[in-house]
Parts: sequence; C-alpha cells; structure tokens
Amino acid sequence: MRTRRILPVPVMLILPLVGCAPKAVSPIGPGSTFQPEEKEQRLWQVAERDSRILQSKGILREDRALDEYVNSVLARLLKPDEAAYKPLTARVYVINCPVVNAFALPNGDIFLHSAILGRIRNEAQLTMLLGHEITHSIHRHAYQEYEDAYARTATASYVSVLSTVGGGDVANMVSGLSALVTQAGISGYSRDKERESDRGGLTLMSYAGYDPAEGAKFFQNILDAADKKDLRFNALYATHPKMQQRLEVCTELAKEMLPNLPGNAKDKGTDRYIKAATPLIHADIERQIARGKYTLAESSVLFLLENQPNDATAFAYRGEICRARNGNNDLKQAREAYTKAIALDDKQSVALRGLGFLCLKEGAKGEAVKYLKAYVSSSPNATDRAYVQQTINNLDSK
Ligand SMILES: [Zn+2]
Repeated sequence: MRTRRILPVPVMLILPLVGCAPKAVSPIGPGSTFQPEEKEQRLWQVAERDSRILQSKGILREDRALDEYVNSVLARLLKPDEAAYKPLTARVYVINCPVVNAFALPNGDIFLHSAILGRIRNEAQLTMLLGHEITHSIHRHAYQEYEDAYARTATASYVSVLSTVGGGDVANMVSGLSALVTQAGISGYSRDKERESDRGGLTLMSYAGYDPAEGAKFFQNILDAADKKDLRFNALYATHPKMQQRLEVCTELAKEMLPNLPGNAKDKGTDRYIKAATPLIHADIERQIARGKYTLAESSVLFLLENQPNDATAFAYRGEICRARNGNNDLKQAREAYTKAIALDDKQSVALRGLGFLCLKEGAKGEAVKYLKAYVSSSPNATDRAYVQQTINNLDSK
C-alpha cells in the first residue's frame, strides 16, 4: 500500500544554503532505486568507519534488552516498506552520555544518547525520535549538505560531548571521528531538512500505528528539561532555539494528518517503554535533582509511580527530592518515601543512604548508623562508599 504515504517535500523545493546549489536526490525507499555516486559512496564509507569508532567499548551502553527493544521499535517503523529501505542498515545504538542528543549517519546507523531516552515517556515518543533521525538518512541529507558543510566543520565539539562521560580515555578513542558526526549530531541540518525530518518521523510513526499527538509531546518533554549549560555542545535536542516552533509545527501536522490515518493509530506503548528504559528514567531523575529541578524530577517520579506503583527506586528518589528541597514538611515526607522504598526493597541503596543522612540531620545517631551500615553493605561498589564508611566511623567513635 504505497498510496497512503504523505509525500515528502520534493528535495528540489528545499531552499538551498547560501551560495550552494541544492543536490537533486530522491529519497531511499518506496518507488526509488538507490544508486549512490562515487562521492556518496565515500561518504558512506566514512559513516561506517565513524560508526565503528562510536561502537567502541566504553561508549556504548551495554544493555542487551534495551538494545533489542529500540531496534525492534525501529523495525516496526520501517516494516511497511522494509525491502525498499534495504540499502540502509537502520540500526540503533545507545551511547552513555548525559547530554540530551541523538543523530543518524548517512548509512542509517542511529545513535541515541542515554539522556534523551530518560526524557521520553512512551514508545510512541521514541518512534518520533527514531522516525526523525532515520528520515535524515532516507532523504540523504548528509549527502545534500556534504560539500557545503562538512568541509568546514571541526570534530572537536563532539569529542568534547563524549568526553563528558568517559574523560580522556574516551576523547582518545573518538578523536578519529570525522566531521560527519559533528554535523549530524551537534550542528544538525538546515531548518528545512529538520522540518522535513519532523514530518517524515511523524508520518512513519502514524502509519506504524502510533498516536501522532505523542510526536509533539516528545518535543515538549525535551524542552521542559532544556539546559543552557548544554549550549557549549550546541546539542540539537537540548537547546535548539526553534524547539518551541518545532513543537507547534508538529502539533499542527499531527492534527492535519489525523483524518487520513487508519483507525489504529492510537498506540502509545507506555508499559513497553518503561519496562525497557526505567534505569534511564531513574538516571534522568537523579540528574534533575542534582540540578535543583525538583518539580521536573517530581513529575518523572509521579509518572513512574502511576505506571508501576511498587517502584522502590522511584520512592527513594521522591525521598531524595524532598530531602534536597528541604521545604515545609519536606523532611517528614522524605522519611515516609524512604521508608516505603525500604519496605518494598530492603536493599534499596538510595533510600538506605538518604534515610541514614536524614536521621543524622535529625540527631538520631543510632538510627543513622544502622541505615548507613545497611547502605555500605548493599552497595559495595558505590563511589561514595569510603565517604559513608568514614561518616559511620566518626559516629561510632563518639
Ligand atoms: Zn534532525
């Protein structure tokens, strides 16, 4: 069924970059035969080499279940025209990185930073992200901008993004990346190409049966947590100045598309998403607490508890939020949340440590020692283990 597709904006109509004629290329997919010129073949070779560098141990998140999950979701997106997309590898990789970002290489390899997955709420929102990224590859955006942009772009900025996690080791590992990655991941494409990818993402997700309204909600979730500090990385999803506009365009597009969509375009896949991505949502909550964004952290905790009422870690984070905020009644609520977390899981380390320090603050030293000792024995590899042990020793010697 090819007629159901909303046709993409013809490439020839895309406004050229200043001083650069647009390349007339047809998208990879239904109705076209992909025949790359020599220059595009070289671009793909660079992409494959860059992809291998990014797949190095130490950068990728080693979570097989998550890996299988994100790849199954991309497969579902492309399923209706699977054979036509064959020239693309269409493979998703998750990179450990606290900067909210994602990008695709020309050959269809998609890299998602772990932080962006922590902001997503359901599978439908994930398909907006994957659909947007794969549309860059489908429409051969890298090739279109190749001569104009890549020749002038430095790679240093992306190396610095990845170095936020791995430090010097990672910087050495990825220093061989080409400007291709910087362009796709950090600078993004021209506004028209970004818009084309938003439209493409929305189209793919809707025809795969997902609720298109979730497309705009995806952008809203990212916008809510936008961090000015990420400006130094110019990460597209965190700080793009046109994010608000993108969100509005997406909302309008989804409304336009609705009457033409099959009746089954309602899937959200919240349970499936949470099952695969809970540790990443937890990590996002932790990051927001550290930034003092308590309302944002709290909304994520509530979201988790609505969907999995026995999530001990979510209760522990509720305790952390209250303890850090330390407002009216907060310490009482922190104690309640920690206690609930420990009742659900007596080895819940965040709750044991939090309750220990809360008791200490309230002058209940015996109780504090009990919980801090339980924390140390439940988390032998914790980075703050030595500090907590020292606190216990100081209390014991008094
Ligand atoms: Zn994009």
